[in-house]
Amino acid sequence: MPGEWIRSFRRHFYAGIIVLSIPLLVSLSLTSGYDVLRLLTAFKSNYYISNTTSNVVANRNENSRSMVSRVVTNTAVEHVADIGNISAKRKVCSASPERLVGRLNIDLSDNTNFTFHKEYLDIISGGTWKPRDCFARQRVAIIIPFRDRRKHLEQLQYYLIPMLKRQQLNFRFFVVEQNGNNTFNKGLIMNAAFAEVRKIEDFDCFVFHDVDMIPEDDRNIYTCTDAPKHMSPALDKFGYRLPYMQLVGGVLSMKPDVFIAVNGYSNLYWGWGAEDDDMAARIKFKNLGIVRPPLTTGRYRMIKHSKREMNPAKIRMFLLKTVKNRFMKDGLNSVQYKTVFVKLTPLFTHIMVDVGEPPKDTNKITSMMTQT
Ligand code: UDP
Ligand code: MN
Repeated sequence: MPGEWIRSFRRHFYAGIIVLSIPLLVSLSLTSGYDVLRLLTAFKSNYYISNTTSNVVANRNENSRSMVSRVVTNTAVEHVADIGNISAKRKVCSASPERLVGRLNIDLSDNTNFTFHKEYLDIISGGTWKPRDCFARQRVAIIIPFRDRRKHLEQLQYYLIPMLKRQQLNFRFFVVEQNGNNTFNKGLIMNAAFAEVRKIEDFDCFVFHDVDMIPEDDRNIYTCTDAPKHMSPALDKFGYRLPYMQLVGGVLSMKPDVFIAVNGYSNLYWGWGAEDDDMAARIKFKNLGIVRPPLTTGRYRMIKHSKREMNPAKIRMFLLKTVKNRFMKDGLNSVQYKTVFVKLTPLFTHIMVDVGEPPKDTNKITSMMTQT
């Protein structure tokens, strides 16, 4: 009896399975048949492939239509955001950003860790940042002439990076280092930096920034005016007063066309002194004028350091007397250097240049000048 019961259960069980699976089999064969048909048609008419491609093309067109032609004006024009954020509309950032705090509390004592700041977390390798919620008014290249001042560089970026973010600028740091131990030539490496940066990216504004100048007020906005802007008129070591009208040393911003118009810096100032005064003379001879922030906001502290090897006064004076006849020949258009490397580091783009050595016979410089 139990044997028969088991046999009858099996029969019903198998019959049940077959009956239940019929609709499943029918639907499966229909779908795959449809797929096979679809694929066959696709291969025959290229329909399947071209359909996919045209979708991609359509998307691309959509994106490029929404991309922005980058014209920044003084009025808050509406822009459509770039790829990845098609629907969002963004405005040009405000000329007086809300997050500014005014006077800064600078602490250069040793117990601060200058190698890290939470504001560094969204800096892109190479030292780039831009605001996400509005279009920066200018793309600004910060050019820092450098050799053997690591600590100063850390201190400067520790204060400057958060400040530039509050100013809502699109910025990138370039540190231009003179290779080797020959006499430092700041003007020459500034020219080299300008030439190299132009090969890398387009900027609306160049800020030439000594490494030891720490800004004390974030209302001093790091953008360019049409005329060159001397951003550091109030320096602690000069009692926060402009020592003379022709000073442009420390921090100087210039639009690229203006830098080209004055033919950059002189390449002939080896050692400390007067390359900035030479620049001021170029600006004067081109009748460009100098813009300055008020002394209340154009404030800086200069980190104390030992004085570098000086350019002999005789040569400095001689060079300064000859700017007018020399500056269109000596500068950006005559700079000679070799690029040793360009490296991206987390907080800046590092440009190492070889500029050779100063002429052994200093009379060479003076005799060269007399010929012109
Ligand atoms: N500099 C440098 N290493 C040097 C000499 C100069 O990095 O050995 C750079 C640095 O950016 C510095 C700027 O050149 O701030 C101007 O030089 P320095 O500070 O010696 O002149 P100062 O402005 O103090 O008279
Ligand atoms: Mn200095």
